[in-house]
Amino acid sequence: MNRTITVAKGDGIGPEVTDAVLRILDAAECGLTYENIEVGEKVYLSGNSSGIPAGSWSSLRRNPVFLKGPITTPQGSGYKSLNVTIRKTLGLYANVRPCRSYHPFVRTQHPGMDVVVVRENEEDLYAGIEHRQTTDVYQCLKVLSLPGTEKIIRYAFEYARSNGRKKVTCLVKDNIMKLTDGMFADTFRRLGKEYPGLQQEIQIIDIGTARVATRPDRYDVIVTLNLYGDIISDVTAELTGSVGMAGSANIGDRISMFEAIHGSAPDIAGKGIANPSAMLNAACMMLVHLGLSDKAEAIQNAWLCALEDGLHPSDVFQEGVSKKRMGTSEFADAVVARLGKNPQQLKSVEMKGGAAPAYRYVRPQVKRELCGVDVFVCDPVSTPDELADRLLKASRGMLKLKLITNRGVKVWPQGFPETFCTDHWRCRFVGPDAVIGMEKATYMPIGHRQIHQLLHLLTEAHIDTVKTENLYLFDGVRGFSL
Ligand code: NAD
Repeated sequence: MNRTITVAKGDGIGPEVTDAVLRILDAAECGLTYENIEVGEKVYLSGNSSGIPAGSWSSLRRNPVFLKGPITTPQGSGYKSLNVTIRKTLGLYANVRPCRSYHPFVRTQHPGMDVVVVRENEEDLYAGIEHRQTTDVYQCLKVLSLPGTEKIIRYAFEYARSNGRKKVTCLVKDNIMKLTDGMFADTFRRLGKEYPGLQQEIQIIDIGTARVATRPDRYDVIVTLNLYGDIISDVTAELTGSVGMAGSANIGDRISMFEAIHGSAPDIAGKGIANPSAMLNAACMMLVHLGLSDKAEAIQNAWLCALEDGLHPSDVFQEGVSKKRMGTSEFADAVVARLGKNPQQLKSVEMKGGAAPAYRYVRPQVKRELCGVDVFVCDPVSTPDELADRLLKASRGMLKLKLITNRGVKVWPQGFPETFCTDHWRCRFVGPDAVIGMEKATYMPIGHRQIHQLLHLLTEAHIDTVKTENLYLFDGVRGFSL
């Protein structure tokens, strides 16, 4: 069966490693036809701030997969990350990065390491919603959705099951971000019940990262949020020996993108010495995704044979272990020459699964009630008590002032004089009938009109409001942090 895929060779070493990989795919008779598109530096410098010409989207939408070489992002602001644009535009929700040691042929401190990081790819702090709100304060919104979370966690469990993995570890910071990371952890616990054959654990990201860095052999599949996954997958890739070895997949429902984890390596571009292995591993993940697992296994095993034979590109070359320092093209020839062979020492590869499971989000039926509002105020001069006085006078009992915080720390009522305050205050108002106790508050439903009237009164009193955040109860449960 002939399949057409979209290919962008990229910048720097991109064309060298991509050409080497395409030659191996052709030699293995994968039956692929390539539709080339231009992305990256040239496109950016022609004045297109996203790095991809409008016409190339139709190729990406027409074909099921995109094999992308590394690109150079020009220095300076104004250039948007091409990867983030493609991931979010095409709904590539799962970033999958297998990181395996090739001991004793590639130097690593962790010979038994074989970890797959499944990173959420569209949400979290990468939503790109940032604001400077006052002279002092900047914010970046961390946005997590229930469907996005269900999708990535289910993908991780399915990936583990279909690839014969034993354990899935969820990394979060739910001790601090109880609503967002808490929802991620709860979803992991809930969906995990459908996968009783898999060991499951939840770890806090900080100690989890430290343990991944020191004892990666304890981990199998890791599922985590976008930013944590970005960091931890670089840690795991680095631990295996070289960035020149690891590939990654960006999986969507309809379209998926495959690429090396490294960049365009301008320092070695044009020298013919780049290691094409990362791009080759990405291409093998692509073949599995296309249902060509037998081809992927054949290529992977031939590649492992070349490593075992001591034929090593420069970045993994070691005196005493390696037999020959290989150029990019020469290394591709060595892989082609070994097609059909299996490695003797390194574990030969069985590549299964990979296709995204069908997913349908069923929105839970929940009663949502408005019960208050956080009004964010810019005030560079008042003390907390002075600001509270102004707010109490201005609001005229329309809604009840419950508390004021500064950078999330309560400063009224009963604040501490030691707390450092900026010009950015969060002032929480709840319904006039709410019962506010020291430990427990009982919130009462309010209407949007009361919030509008409150804002009107604050404006009349020259209080500078920079934004509001409504407070909701969901089936009576607080949907906001205390
Ligand atoms: P890089 O990954 O390009 O290079 C880091 C180091 O690793 C360099 O010393 C390089 O020579 C080496 N290296 C990388 N790939 C190699 C390979 N296949 N074989 C041998 N050695 C290899 O990172 P960088 O220098 O920080 O970034 C260079 C450019 O790449 C920047 O413009 C950056 O924005 C871009 N970048 C693109 C992607 C992508 O397209 N997905 C990812 C990362 C960086």
